[in-house]
Amino acid sequence: MLSVKEAESIVLNLAQPLDSQRDVETVDLLAASGRILAAAVTGSLDFPYWDNSAMDGYAVRFADVENSSAEKPTVLEVVEDIPAGYQPENTVKSGQAARIFTGAVMPAGADTVVMQEETRREGDRILILVCPEKPQAFVRHKGAFYQAGTTLLTPGTVINAPEMAVLATAQCIQVPVYRRLRAAIFSTGDELVSPDEPLAAGKLVDSNQYALTVLLAQMGLEVVRLGVVPDNEDALKKAIAQAVSTADVVLSTGGVSVGDYDYVEKILADLGGKIHISAVAIKPGKPLTVAQFKRDEKSSDCLYFGLPGNPVSALVCCWRFVVPALRKISGLDADAWGPEFVKARCHAELRSHGKRETYVWGKLHLVAGIWEFEPASGSQNSANLINLANTNGLAVLPPAETWIWPGEFVEVLKVS
Ligand code: AMP
Ligand code: MG
Repeated sequence: MLSVKEAESIVLNLAQPLDSQRDVETVDLLAASGRILAAAVTGSLDFPYWDNSAMDGYAVRFADVENSSAEKPTVLEVVEDIPAGYQPENTVKSGQAARIFTGAVMPAGADTVVMQEETRREGDRILILVCPEKPQAFVRHKGAFYQAGTTLLTPGTVINAPEMAVLATAQCIQVPVYRRLRAAIFSTGDELVSPDEPLAAGKLVDSNQYALTVLLAQMGLEVVRLGVVPDNEDALKKAIAQAVSTADVVLSTGGVSVGDYDYVEKILADLGGKIHISAVAIKPGKPLTVAQFKRDEKSSDCLYFGLPGNPVSALVCCWRFVVPALRKISGLDADAWGPEFVKARCHAELRSHGKRETYVWGKLHLVAGIWEFEPASGSQNSANLINLANTNGLAVLPPAETWIWPGEFVEVLKVS
């Protein structure tokens, strides 16, 4: 059976990033929120756009005021008021100053701003009570933060609040982003009903489809839900064929184990899918099945993840293998693919049978700079989706590791 590392490397090799020509769309500025840049953005404006004042105060010539003190203030004539947003009209000559406000354009002739608190106003005159620290004090120079024509943002960057501010500032109102990935999700199993259906004897509510939809939607994917498909070869074949023909990535749950009604892998092969993974030495999650459907050069391949039916197994496989693959395909920078592990101190003992790499779910807290891991109380059973709620970490016990004592450090996969 494949190790987790081997499976991870197979999945990441299959996951090929979207094409930076073919898979790109241009969207309006605000519509770029949460999207991934597909091309470098270069601004055509310096930033700051103009020399401007960083303070409310007086624009002066440094040479005029360098010997100022409270005892021997420099007296200057105020020739103009320059609020933010207006172009100054006068040149500040020796012996003169201009009243200036934060963000207002520096007048010609002045090279320094003296903050208001270090002056005293007397009619049309201003008394400078302190010598500014240096020439250019409190002046924000044109182009000091960014020079026009250089790269502002690189491809693979996610547009969050700071990047949105950068694009707006550069007046980049049409933004090239990667198209959203399309995912198709369905659940398999004769026992499944949807949350709004009556629960007949022996049935179980399909929770996987809801959990996986949220996980992928939160990553920015377009999700098509194909519902519950019964354990019937014809119905499954139809659903899988439909999913594969429309989506970049398909997630199904159930039907990948060794039971009599587990048809998924056989159907994937019948439909021309290349099976790359049939099982992984991971607990929970062993029956993970991964297949690839090749398409012509004009479209990207479809990756199929046949996830185990047990709700915790399905999510663990998603967090460990599917999420990094989707991040890679979506065009994100390599350093953002994850998975993200932290070393954490265990609050309680962790046990494993030692055969497969074992994932124990629980809570990560950062306490005085050290990550602490508290395993979820109650049963660590792959069907127990209840105590998975409010967890945010999966402690990893490598195959030979059977016992972690309280106080020992473990690797924990951060999840959300
Ligand atoms: P399977 O992998 O199909 O053998 O299913 C394994 C276990 O997971 C069984 O107990 C199923 O009832 C349960 N299961 C399968 N699919 C789902 C689902 N969509 N939501 C919740 N539980 C499921
Ligand atoms: Mg089943």
